[in-house]
Amino acid sequence: MQITLLGTGNPIPDARRAGPSTLVRAGGASGATVLIDCGRGVLMRMIAAGAVPPMLTAVFVTHLHSDHLTDLNDVITMHWVISPVPQTLRIYGPVGTKAFVEHTLAALAPDIQYRLDHHVDLTQGPMVEVTEVVPGDEFNLGSGQISVIVGATDHRPVEPTVAFRIDDGTHSVVLAGDSIPCATLDALCLGATAYVQTVIREDLVKLVPSQRLQDILDYHSTIEQAAETATRAGVETLILTHYVPGIAPGAEDEWRAIAAAHFSGTIVLGDDLTAVEL
Ligand SMILES: [Zn+2]
Ligand SMILES: [Zn+2]
Repeated sequence: MQITLLGTGNPIPDARRAGPSTLVRAGGASGATVLIDCGRGVLMRMIAAGAVPPMLTAVFVTHLHSDHLTDLNDVITMHWVISPVPQTLRIYGPVGTKAFVEHTLAALAPDIQYRLDHHVDLTQGPMVEVTEVVPGDEFNLGSGQISVIVGATDHRPVEPTVAFRIDDGTHSVVLAGDSIPCATLDALCLGATAYVQTVIREDLVKLVPSQRLQDILDYHSTIEQAAETATRAGVETLILTHYVPGIAPGAEDEWRAIAAAHFSGTIVLGDDLTAVEL
């Protein structure tokens, strides 16, 4: 199983970091390629990671915050236009995802019509199938050997929010999205090989005299909290992403040390396209 941090940024534009998105490749050729969230610049990072939209088995959406979804329209359009034969883009997300996708397709209507009118071999618009999921749902991907479990997270007042656990029979990874620690996240992570958590650096955020920034402290995991979740769940590898603020060049070891004080396993963090092979 390979996990690639496509975008490690946060909502604020960053010249070095794309918006939140992660790519999981599991089960080899007969397995699945899953994109988790679609932040700013996702397709630039996906192509750099050697993947194009038609290769996606599914897109998972953790929640409907714009930083996690802003480029879903690009994924939908390019999946449609690049695919040599018509194929369905499968999207799994919390309740509300269907309406979001419908609205996105409505916004894309002029573009869809331009392309249908111009390309004779394009005979239908994007085929998108949305499955709204709730905590406790389980489903399979690929030729069936990739199993997925959906768990509840806590990012209130943003609701609903979900995490996904992907298991290829040998390894498993939990994509937590934005969340503070909670019992349901602990349960989903229990015994997983890897756990990907979006994090903030509480000490640095607290230095910024902006109420709007202080507001984010109550609905994100700090590095310490992510490390504690990893320890409670007994995961082998903790993968941190969605850094607030962005990790300054050369400060990776400082961030790693904060996590290491609460977690003794492998800690992964870094620039966009940081990848881990489990
Ligand atoms: Zn969020
Ligand atoms: Zn976010």
